[in-house]
Amino acid sequence: MPADYDVVIIGGGNAGFCAAHAAAEQGASVLMLERAPETEAGGNSFYTAGAFRFAIDSLDDVVDLFDDEITTERLSDSVLPPYTVADFRHDMERVTEGRCDPLLTDVLVSRSADTVRWLAGRGLQWRLMYERQSYLSGGKWVFSGGLYVGTVSGGKGLIARHTAAARAAGVEIRYGADVTGFSLTGQPMVNYRFGDGKATQVYAGAIVLAAGGFESSPERREKYLGAGWGAAMVRGCPTNTGDVLELALAAGAAPYGDWTSCHSVAWDAGAPPQGGNRELTNQLTRQSYPIGIVVNTAGERFVDEGADFRNYTYAKYGKEILAQPEGRAFQLFDATTRPLLRKEEYDSTPISDAVADSLPELATKLGIDPDGLVETVDAFNASIIDKPFDPAVFDGRAAQVMPPKSNWAMALQTPPYYGYAVGCGVTFTFGGVHVDDTANVLDRDGSSIRGLYAAGEMVGGLFSGNYPGGSGLTSGAVFGRLAGEHAALTALNKVSG
Ligand SMILES: Cc1cc2nc3c(=O)[nH]c(=O)nc-3n(C[C@H](O)[C@H](O)[C@H](O)COP(=O)(O)OP(=O)(O)OC[C@H]3O[C@@H](n4cnc5c(N)ncnc54)[C@H](O)[C@@H]3O)c2cc1C
Repeated sequence: MPADYDVVIIGGGNAGFCAAHAAAEQGASVLMLERAPETEAGGNSFYTAGAFRFAIDSLDDVVDLFDDEITTERLSDSVLPPYTVADFRHDMERVTEGRCDPLLTDVLVSRSADTVRWLAGRGLQWRLMYERQSYLSGGKWVFSGGLYVGTVSGGKGLIARHTAAARAAGVEIRYGADVTGFSLTGQPMVNYRFGDGKATQVYAGAIVLAAGGFESSPERREKYLGAGWGAAMVRGCPTNTGDVLELALAAGAAPYGDWTSCHSVAWDAGAPPQGGNRELTNQLTRQSYPIGIVVNTAGERFVDEGADFRNYTYAKYGKEILAQPEGRAFQLFDATTRPLLRKEEYDSTPISDAVADSLPELATKLGIDPDGLVETVDAFNASIIDKPFDPAVFDGRAAQVMPPKSNWAMALQTPPYYGYAVGCGVTFTFGGVHVDDTANVLDRDGSSIRGLYAAGEMVGGLFSGNYPGGSGLTSGAVFGRLAGEHAALTALNKVSG
C-alpha cells in the first residue's frame, strides 16, 4: 500500500508538535492523531507553566528571545547566573543519582539551547519567569535553580502557538482520534477510532510515538509504581493512560529507564483526582514550601523543605506526601513568610486553606493534631541558626532538628498563621521506550526498529526518582524535533534507518 502520509504522529502535545514542525520542514506530509477532542487537546503540555530548562551562558545569550513588557522593563535589573551545558548535565546526574542514560542526557543538554531558539523561529514566544524563579534582592531580580525562561501564557500559549505553526506548515490534525494499534510489517500502518466507535486506518512512511506516559491510569500506576499510587491525583490530561506505550512494547520496542518512579508534587488536596483543571492548570501546585514547613496529620515534619532550590526537590516530594497518613500534608507559613508565597498559586486559587491566630486553632481547622503541631513548631523555632534570611541563595539558615531544614528556616511565630492542605499530584511517569540519538526506537537487542520514532514522556532513560524542573518540555522538544526530522528522512527515503 502506498503511504497516505509520510509521517504519522501519535499524540498532540509538545513532543508531537515539535516532531510535526521538524517533519514538515523536511518536506514531509504530516498527519497528527490526537485522542482528545479539540477543546481538551494539548496533552499534559497544555497544563504546564511553559518552563523550559536549557543551557544559558549569560543573559546576553537570550535577550533577543524576549519581547513581553515585563521582561523588557526589568531586563537590566535581572541577574541570571550562568547555567552551562555542563551544569545541566551535572543536575541530571545529581538528581537521578547517576541513573540517567549518558547518551540521551548528552543529546538533551547539548541540544537544549539550540532547540529553544529553533522553537522561537516557529513562533513560540518567551519570557523570563520572574514570579516563579526570582526574588528581589538588593534591587535586582536574582534568578536561581537553572530555570529562567518560559513560554508567554504558559502551557496554554505554548499549545496555541504550536497548533498555529503546525497548521501554517500544512500539518493535518485529527482530534478525537484514539490510536488502538499500529503495525510495522510492510508499509507502516496506524489504526484508530473516533469517539463514535468508527474504526479506521492510515498508512505512513514512518511513525512518531508522542502519546505520553501512563500517569493517568490508576491501574497502571498501581502496577508499575506500586501499591497506593492509584490514589494519587492526576495533574494534567486524563488521556495519558499508557496504551501507546504498551502497543510499542508489543511491537518489539525495548522498555527503558525507570518504570517504578515518576514526577509527583504537592498538589491542592481539593483538586479533581482524575485530571487537571483546564482553567487553573498549574496554579493548583503548591510550590513555596522551601520558605515554610510541611507537616502531616500528626503535626510531624517529614522532609527537608530547604534541602535545595525548589526546582530540584518538588518532583520527588509528592511521593513523600503520598506515604503520609491519609496521603495528606500541610504547608504552614506565618505573617512574615506569607507575602513571599507564589501569588499565582497561593492567592488566586486557595481551595484547601485555613487562616488562624494560633497554631492549635490552625491545626484544628486543617485536621492536624494540635499538640503534635505545637511540639514540632516549638522544637523547630528553637533550633534555627541565626543567619540572614535570603531565599535567592543557599543562606545556610538551617533548623537543626530531625529532619533538618537546611536553608531558609524562619520561625513560625507571627500570627496569623496560614495552612494549605496538599496531596500527591502525579505529573508524568519516567519509564518509556529505548531510543537512540536520532529518537529511533530500539528493540530488546538494541537494533533500531525501522520507521518507528518516539519523543517526550514516551522516552525512557532520562529521569529516575527525581527530575530537574523544566526538563520535560525541553526533552519533548529536543527528541520531538529529532524524531520528526529522522522520521521524515526515512519516509522520504533520504536515509536508511
Ligand atoms: C500541571 C503540570 C505542569 C507542568 N509544568 C511543566 C513545566 O513548566 N515545564 C516542563 O518542562 N514540564 C512541565 N510539566 C511536564 C510536561 O507536561 C511534560 O513533560 C510534557 O508536556 C510531555 O509532553 P508530551 O508531548 O510527551 O506529552 P503530552 O503533552 O501529555 O501529549 C501526549 C498526548 O498524547 C495523547 N494520546 C495519549 N494516548 C493516545 C492515543 N491512544 N491516541 C492518540 N493520542 C493519544 C494525549 O491525549 C496527549 O494529548 C508539567 C506537567 C503538568 C501536568
